[in-house]
Amino acid sequence: MLRYKIMLNPNSLLQLDFTNIWHPFTQMKEWMNSEQIIIERGQGNYLIDVKGRKYLDGVSSLWVNIHGHNHPYINKAICKQLKKIAHSTFLGLTNVPAIQLTGLLMEIIPRNLTRVFYSDNGSTSVEIALKIAYQYWQQHPETRERKRRKFISFTNAYHGDTIGSVSVGGIDLFHGIYEPLLFDTIKIQYPYPLQQNLTQKQSEESSLKQLEKCLETESQTIAGLIIEPLMQGASGMLNTSAQFLQKVRQLTKKHGVLMIVDEVATGFGRTGSMFAVEKADIEPDILCVAKGITGGYLPLAATFTTENIFSHFLGEFNEYKTFYHGHSYTGNSLACAAAIANLELFKKEKVLEKLQEKIYYLIQGLKEIEKLPQVAEVRQEGFMVGIELCKDRSKKICYKPEQRAGFKVTQAAVKKGVFLRPLGDVVVLMPPLSISRKQLNLLLDVTKQCIIEVTRDL
Ligand code: PMP
Repeated sequence: MLRYKIMLNPNSLLQLDFTNIWHPFTQMKEWMNSEQIIIERGQGNYLIDVKGRKYLDGVSSLWVNIHGHNHPYINKAICKQLKKIAHSTFLGLTNVPAIQLTGLLMEIIPRNLTRVFYSDNGSTSVEIALKIAYQYWQQHPETRERKRRKFISFTNAYHGDTIGSVSVGGIDLFHGIYEPLLFDTIKIQYPYPLQQNLTQKQSEESSLKQLEKCLETESQTIAGLIIEPLMQGASGMLNTSAQFLQKVRQLTKKHGVLMIVDEVATGFGRTGSMFAVEKADIEPDILCVAKGITGGYLPLAATFTTENIFSHFLGEFNEYKTFYHGHSYTGNSLACAAAIANLELFKKEKVLEKLQEKIYYLIQGLKEIEKLPQVAEVRQEGFMVGIELCKDRSKKICYKPEQRAGFKVTQAAVKKGVFLRPLGDVVVLMPPLSISRKQLNLLLDVTKQCIIEVTRDL
């Protein structure tokens, strides 16, 4: 018999959270000893807690939300699907919403990508991409090509938290401890001009030179290269030019290395176009998406490949060329119904068209923040923004990690009704694409105020 009765009282709820829950990317000792917000509802671009307090969702609930919370159109689509079926397995069966969603996705992804493999989060979409790339070469008719086993990734990269995606990651704080468990990857310096003391152009050229040299000597052993296109997210929002991405595409093509683009963060309008690769006009061999695919409503991810890659997995049963990978919730009907509604909303509400003006407005607002002496640099690509804090810009003095400048700024913003999350000393702004001008003003004003107030005491 169940001993536990569903609680409603905020204090009892929090007590139970403190007693039994382990939160992601969270020092739980700190969590359990401070006041926490319990979200009960969402409305538009706001989160609402159990005490009725409202918070502007300044990071789209970790970069997933697109059209706002509690959107009647997505709600209706999920409810309609729920009356039919919530889930049926994708192993040995297919389902209506997954097929319909595929039709819509094929209209918007780069045209050379014709096959989709569904999963349920960004990390698994990357894991799948890596396994497909590896297996593709193992099943290649030329025995010489089967030596291609290694991956190239970039310093500071973040592709998720499963062991495969951590292997191609490059953030020491998150990934360093797992080193003995990871497979070997070749790391190319990702352009970070501020840290390298170079211009953007110099920094990109230096990375490209390193990549070119590596490909010239080792390409016969390399299965694929993985990159976050245009904007590295979790490293603190580090952007590159479209030309950089084009050059990476040219080099990988020249040396026969598969190019995997991880659009988990950048996909679905975040950079101002549906996918970041469009801005560079490139066609990758494999493309990963998750986060915004359902508008931020339900977990769903997809890995797209070319027909050529797919064809290497075809054969007789006893050739064992099958891709032996799958998850219980692959192709989930509810999630696919939400994703269909998400894509329909993009069209119906002319989201990308309207976004361009908002991006321009955001750029203007960021100029004020950029002027602050406590800001080392503002990096922005569409609706993805990183504000890197520093103690003294003129003397290039950074804060010490234990001063937790970024964390304190975002905590102060939460007190003013704007929910933000930092990445080290980088304050991230990534609002839902549905944010209004008035709400953008609030986001920018509160961010500026909090940077000024918090850094005064540091
Ligand atoms: N790739 C990128 C570029 C990401 O930003 C993230 C998550 N922030 C992931 C992969 C992992 O996605 P998930 O958290 O859904 O596993």
